[in-house]
Amino acid sequence: MRLLIATHNRGKLIEYQAMFADVPVELVTLDEVGIRDDVEETGVTLAENARLKALTYARASGLLTLADDSGLEVDALGGEPGVRSKRYAGDNTSDAERNAFLLAKLRDVPAEQRTARFRCAIAIATPDGKLWETDGTCEGEIAFDARGTNGFGYDPIFHVTARGVRMAELATAEKNRVSHRARAAEKARRILVEIVESKREA
Ligand code: IMP
Repeated sequence: MRLLIATHNRGKLIEYQAMFADVPVELVTLDEVGIRDDVEETGVTLAENARLKALTYARASGLLTLADDSGLEVDALGGEPGVRSKRYAGDNTSDAERNAFLLAKLRDVPAEQRTARFRCAIAIATPDGKLWETDGTCEGEIAFDARGTNGFGYDPIFHVTARGVRMAELATAEKNRVSHRARAAEKARRILVEIVESKREA
């Protein structure tokens, strides 16, 4: 069975390949099935965007499709940047600029009120509109400065509570054990196994 991973991001594909290594599905990308158009992420939640992408690309490709959407929720900002994580400091800004923007917003927020979490929503859809959804979170706090060089995005300013270091200080394999995406993907892996088994029985 083929599974379309609805991303143009090679890094994400590699992560999913590792996490689904024991599932008997062949992972293909949007580029490989000739889909160039992006689905506009118009949802007001991460789950809505994941659902929208999975359903649209499944219909367009005729394949079982997995889509995700992720972001950072900061409690002191009422859950912002959330779905706006990618463009929080404006279009075409760098990770470093977004991190500086967020640190400036939180300048006067004391340590105990800087709780935050990364969240990842995953949706899996069939071409005829059947849908499964999961999510995963990784709890932490927004630090007062940036530190570490691994990962991407908000990793240098995100202190991972369970590890006591910044996300950007974790090795890739370790991030892939604790991250929001890894946790959501583990649940998705179990769903995929069930889908494959039910197809075999049918
Ligand atoms: P995406 O929709 O999954 O590509 O993620 C949207 C945005 O959320 C990214 O551009 C990052 O700013 C942020 N983000 C998502 N996952 C991570 C992560 O693992 N580390 C740091 N930032 C992340």
